[in-house]
Amino acid sequence: MRLQVIGDPVLHSKSPALHAAMLSALGLDIPYDARTVRRGELPEYLRWAREHGVTGFNATMPHKEDVLPLLDEIDPAAKAVGSVNTVCLRRGRWVGFSTDGAGAAAALKHELSVDPAGLTVTLLGAGGAAKAVALALADAGAERVYVCNRTLSRAEGLCALDPSGRLTPAGFDGDALRRCAQASRLVVNCTSLGMAGCPGQFETFDFLDALPDGAAVYDLIYHPAETELLAQARRRGLPACNGLSMLVWQGVLALEHFLDRPLDRPAMAAAAAAALNQM
Ligand code: NAP
Repeated sequence: MRLQVIGDPVLHSKSPALHAAMLSALGLDIPYDARTVRRGELPEYLRWAREHGVTGFNATMPHKEDVLPLLDEIDPAAKAVGSVNTVCLRRGRWVGFSTDGAGAAAALKHELSVDPAGLTVTLLGAGGAAKAVALALADAGAERVYVCNRTLSRAEGLCALDPSGRLTPAGFDGDALRRCAQASRLVVNCTSLGMAGCPGQFETFDFLDALPDGAAVYDLIYHPAETELLAQARRRGLPACNGLSMLVWQGVLALEHFLDRPLDRPAMAAAAAAALNQM
């Protein structure tokens, strides 16, 4: 058995350390390493992986969507999102899963004690990560998720994917964000605004003042550990958390797929978080 994370770039990935910590906590001697696979090289990689005993891999940029047509089976959640981050070889067949959305939901529960059921949420962004998180929030019973995006058509496209009708597209200007925030108990940032190396910043954080008491803020970004959004939320006394916990929890759920058995999830998350905090 051998596990990998593939992508381009991928050598900076935290996944090997995260999975090594969990495998070690389980007493399993299973190697997990990073392999650079460029766009267009997936068919060749899948052949190589079979020949070299790779029984599972995590897919990151630019393969999360490109790998879909090459798989033998796709989990319904991954099909809904239109991307996979976890691929397992099961009885000779490549099976794809997406653990990003469920990982975010688990992080909200464990880090902010937030259960999305019945909540109204302001979700910022409509890219790949936003899609996974928005659909997971709807699936977890969120009453309404405002998908606020700079490019409104992209928010509309995302919301149209949800058959439950719980997702509502909205704009990204100050007024739109304030209106959505007024009704929301949770803000989730799924844009790249505030990420190290990403130009641009929120024009205003005034929308945080419109949140009702007890609202919380989650930022998918974890580099830097404290984005300006999180700093602004904390300054207003709002519970706030960065995306390292989502990274941890999507990894825990991926490992359950790789090993094809349930794990002690909190114990795995603790082992993974300890390893990441040492990096
Ligand atoms: P993506 O598909 O490229 O989407 C980027 C999103 O950010 C889009 O909604 C885009 O809006 C918005 N955006 C970018 N620049 C903007 C600006 N100047 N003003 C307003 N909006 C802007 O990226 P992604 O894969 O979804 O990733 C988004 C973020 O989530 C990244 O920071 C990534 O590191 C993080 N992430 C974290 C985890 C984790 O485990 N914690 C997992 C996945 C992703 P437009 O549609 O208008 O361009």
